[in-house]
Amino acid sequence: MRLTFMGTAGARFMVAKQVAASGGLFLEDGQTRISLDPGPGAVVAYAQRKVDLTTLDAIVVSHRHLDHAGDVNVMVEAMTDGGFAHRGVLFCPSDALDEDPVVLRYLRRFPREIVRLAPETTYSINGLSFTTSGRHVHQVETYGFRFGDRLGWITDSAYYDGIAQQHQADVMLIHTILLHCRPELPHLCIDDAERIIRDAKPRLAILTHYGMTVWRANPKEIAADLTQRIGTEVQAAFDGMSIEV
Ligand SMILES: [Zn+2]
Repeated sequence: MRLTFMGTAGARFMVAKQVAASGGLFLEDGQTRISLDPGPGAVVAYAQRKVDLTTLDAIVVSHRHLDHAGDVNVMVEAMTDGGFAHRGVLFCPSDALDEDPVVLRYLRRFPREIVRLAPETTYSINGLSFTTSGRHVHQVETYGFRFGDRLGWITDSAYYDGIAQQHQADVMLIHTILLHCRPELPHLCIDDAERIIRDAKPRLAILTHYGMTVWRANPKEIAADLTQRIGTEVQAAFDGMSIEV
């Protein structure tokens, strides 16, 4: 399985200034290709890396916030060849479709299927299975994901009991918006990430989806410091980084 970071920016200030890109993650496993959280500029990031979007099997949106779903409509159009090829699946929480939808109504008939995500449920797309976590502690309906025991993806959430176990895998991605913990904000901070890594003990933890405070503190240095303190390898993702999982 190959994972490519089409962006590493999180939250509105980083995204508005495009200090880093915000195109989410691209997952390839054999013949299966999935776009995860196509935020603003995703279509540009995929084009720059010469990914033919008509070969995508699915688009997965963890939640309806703009930095995760800004390009979902153009990506659905691209996946379905402008709506002419009835193919591909969109996975998203119900509140991305209902009130104040982020998925426009006119293009909902383009994909082969639109699946409303439910907590702790396993889905399969073209032979690749993934499982949702419990509902995250966030302002809107949000799920994290586990791709078997290979990859765990902790999207936006406040820390909660069980978050480490629900995403436990060989390689774990952790969205770190905050440098310092702020209980009033439903986001993970670096101390939360450390706690999760100590509990889940992945082979490799990767920080991504940086907020401005993390960015200014230098994600690479934060990751090196965590590696030294915990004894587990921690890397800081960068735009365009690609790894085998
Ligand atoms: Zn969010």
